[in-house]
Amino acid sequence: MDDQCFLLLEKRLKHISFVIHSMDDELQILLQLNNITNNILQFMKQTHNDVIEVKTKIDNLNNDYFEKHCEEIVRDWFSEHSEFLSEERTLNTIEELVNRKNMIEKSIRSLCVHEWVRDYIDVSPEKSERVCYCIKCETTQR
Ligand SMILES: [Zn+2]
Repeated sequence: MDDQCFLLLEKRLKHISFVIHSMDDELQILLQLNNITNNILQFMKQTHNDVIEVKTKIDNLNNDYFEKHCEEIVRDWFSEHSEFLSEERTLNTIEELVNRKNMIEKSIRSLCVHEWVRDYIDVSPEKSERVCYCIKCETTQR
């Protein structure tokens, strides 16, 4: 192999390793984004349920026990955050995040060079099920 040919090969190999490296970075970024999206979704769903619970408690409250200053705090709190916490807005944001999450997960599945492992998960105290999942992206094989 002459020198020029060798240099060209070396250059190509460097390019390939760069591509592999950046793909790995992309995967890490997507995995992190997916994680963040999951956290936001979990937080939003929990907050949504908590707000409904508080509203129900307020509705059922015996007003004789609702102190004036407490009533103000609650009223101000809801008037300041009611738009942000509205049912419609929350459900729209959750739907949007779920769509985004599906897109991210689709990209992760196509980008990851999967490393499959077999494991057992407990589905009930007596029963466990065999699963096959990727240790890098946690995609499960069906
Ligand atoms: Zn994977």
